[in-house]
Amino acid sequence: MSIPTSFIDQLLDQTDIVDVVGRRIPLNKKGSNFWCQCPFHDDSNPSMAVNQDKQFFYCFVCQESGNAIHFIRRYENLDFVDAIETLASSAGMTVPYETNKHEKSKPSGLVEKAVNFYKGNLNEKIAPQAIKYLKDRKISGVTAKKFNIGYAQDKWDGLLNHFGSAASSKELSNSGLFSQKDDRFYDRFRGRIIFPIRNIKGDFIAMGGRIIDEGEPKYLNSPETSFFNKSNELFGLFEVKDSQKNIDSLIVVEGYMDVIGLYEHGIKNAVATLGTAVTPNHISKIMRYTNKIFFAFDGDLAGGKAAWKAVENTFPIIREDINIHFVFFEQGHDPDSYIAEHGLKAFQKLLDESISLSSYFLSKIKEFNLETLEGRAQAAAFAIPIVNKINNSVIKEVYAHEVSNLCGMDIKIMDAPPSSPKRQETNNAIKASSNTPIRVKAVINIFSSILAFPSIAKEKLFDELKVDPNFNFLFLILDLYKQTPDIKPSRVIENIESDQIKGYFSEAVVAGLELSEKNALKLANDCVKILIKNQKDREQILKDKYNVGSISAIERRDLQQIILKKQEITDNDRDLLRKLSSKQD
Ligand SMILES: [Zn+2]
Repeated sequence: MSIPTSFIDQLLDQTDIVDVVGRRIPLNKKGSNFWCQCPFHDDSNPSMAVNQDKQFFYCFVCQESGNAIHFIRRYENLDFVDAIETLASSAGMTVPYETNKHEKSKPSGLVEKAVNFYKGNLNEKIAPQAIKYLKDRKISGVTAKKFNIGYAQDKWDGLLNHFGSAASSKELSNSGLFSQKDDRFYDRFRGRIIFPIRNIKGDFIAMGGRIIDEGEPKYLNSPETSFFNKSNELFGLFEVKDSQKNIDSLIVVEGYMDVIGLYEHGIKNAVATLGTAVTPNHISKIMRYTNKIFFAFDGDLAGGKAAWKAVENTFPIIREDINIHFVFFEQGHDPDSYIAEHGLKAFQKLLDESISLSSYFLSKIKEFNLETLEGRAQAAAFAIPIVNKINNSVIKEVYAHEVSNLCGMDIKIMDAPPSSPKRQETNNAIKASSNTPIRVKAVINIFSSILAFPSIAKEKLFDELKVDPNFNFLFLILDLYKQTPDIKPSRVIENIESDQIKGYFSEAVVAGLELSEKNALKLANDCVKILIKNQKDREQILKDKYNVGSISAIERRDLQQIILKKQEITDNDRDLLRKLSSKQD
């Protein structure tokens, strides 16, 4: 499955990066750019520019940059498909997945076959106890069909025999459907009702099984596989998305039977985590489809803990436009049992009377003895680290204010930037490279000249750089402009692999140099010359270092590369190459 590039173009066209960033971080307009504190490094000044014209962001400190897709991927820690889904749903567009003819069968293909096999088993003849169980729980045939419920017979090789020799050992092993012992495969799911789990595209990727007779564990899930990561997936989300165009709200529950039981009683917007606590990934996924979320956990100690975990994991990504509510059930009840006993109206009443995220959080603080100084200090110590997790500065301010009032002290909120592994990576890349400031400036200026006049991409003046594979990135970009002179910068950046080069390109975009065509051409010419001269200078410096014996191993390799890439290699060069590759000196 892939997403057509025409759709990505269309999506970038209909998305405004100022809106995407602005919904998450406050922006201020200054000059031709909007500015904000960069969320990708520990920023105290507004260092990030967001350019509406070019649909680009760029941080002048950590050099994080790109289009709306890049921003959302980094900010919400999403993979490409999830980022596209996020932007598409806020633009009210549906992602058209296309099956690539050359694509091999899906890695999760066996799971889909297993789902069909198990569905076929769910009948009076093969599975009378399963049918009875579902009837006792008042699950209708329509609902069973909607969720593709099936039955795995109590056999070690029911599914294995069904596949026969059609599936390779590797496929069997990767599918998560079998356990393996002494090189033999055994059905993982036996004597269980099967609840298939689909990803957001609708592919079957895993399943959960509930035992019918006595036995442990009561619920069994597929293990994590290359296509199933349980902290990412929500049972029932595809089914909701598939049948509702605009999702008004989503109810997060703990189990499959809660989702299915609620559905049967008319609540058709519940999703379940898969035996894990609610993760930030779950929440950002949900926030993509609705801005109203209810957490409805079981009325026991574990349910209370799950609710608190949800609070902690929501805080880092909470936004002003998101409403989060908590529903608590009386001891011994879960959503399914509650609606079965009290009916739809009573359940809806619970939703109406649910408690907001802020009230729930503040109620936890009020549990401390705020009459005493010690109690207030304890409450502050409890609350501050949690409030510091909030990235949205407006919401953080509001919470800090409330906590200050309750604890009777002015809580100074410390800046807690989100951890940023990539930032370090970027910095290292800059340090490790042999790029001097002059070279960097030259590359940025070349980008500026092409951005101002894409026709420059056709000029021969760049040819001299062709011999050096270090400049492959430049020729890739030149080709893009040659093919589509009016290509948007936000599309060009999609094609740049190196983060460092992306940064340089973005710097040129955001700088938006105003040049006449003549000056742009001259600038490009000068910069190419600088790059060539710079390479020659570097060659000389490294040779000098070699001659005085102070060359490092990395520089030695660098020098070899420089010589090998020269158009003409002299006898002296050849001699030096031999020496460089010999191990003695
Ligand atoms: Zn930054």
